[in-house]
Amino acid sequence: MTISDQLEILKSLAVVDTALSGLLAELEAEGGALTAKKTQLEGLEAKVQRSEQSIGEMEHTRNELMLEIRQMSVQVSKSREKLSRCRTEREANAAQREVEELRKLYRDREVEIEKINALVEQARIEMEGTVKERDALRGELGESEGAVQTRLSELQAKTAQHQAEKDALVKGVKPQIFRRYEMIRKRRGSAVSAAIGSSCTECHIALPPMLFQQIMQAQEMIQCPSCNRILYYQEPSPTPPEGSTADSQPG
Ligand SMILES: [Zn+2]
Repeated sequence: MTISDQLEILKSLAVVDTALSGLLAELEAEGGALTAKKTQLEGLEAKVQRSEQSIGEMEHTRNELMLEIRQMSVQVSKSREKLSRCRTEREANAAQREVEELRKLYRDREVEIEKINALVEQARIEMEGTVKERDALRGELGESEGAVQTRLSELQAKTAQHQAEKDALVKGVKPQIFRRYEMIRKRRGSAVSAAIGSSCTECHIALPPMLFQQIMQAQEMIQCPSCNRILYYQEPSPTPPEGSTADSQPG
């Protein structure tokens, strides 16, 4: 297998690799966006669940306090009755203190219940917001997930196809040349470059005439002294570049 043949395969390989890297980038973007949305939805679902649990706990505490308050009002009535039956001042003072103590405990619980009610109210408002956000995202995902999955499958199929194409091409290249190609490709994004009119078309450096001769002869693999890409000779395009003064050169 001549160097020219190897170069031809590397050129085809470069085309396949460009397509492959485009596909992989697309796959990553599409898949990444879907995963991000799913993660966000899971987060919102967990938040709703936590809010429900916390509201439930607060309501439980409030119900217990309300039960205590009812029991206390019974006790207050009893203590008042006791107070009315007191005979000595000492007894009356003790009963009075008991009533006041109970009233204080009663008021404390009332304040506590009010606080809890306010917290429950606030938590409910917050939860409603989260529920709305969750439902919107759920709907959005439900509508788009099928299409995104289809797109992902298409991209995966194309990627596999290009990968198979690449594998087939690689078989025609000497292993050490392929290793060099891959090393340059991973570092530079592309591994081959056309040498046209004695310059490297990727990094635009002017190539020394001797080196350019070697590239034209294609007896060995030549790498660009500046960007390290594997160079192959290509004839300059016959059409004059735009803006050139074509009419000054008759022929
Ligand atoms: Zn170069």
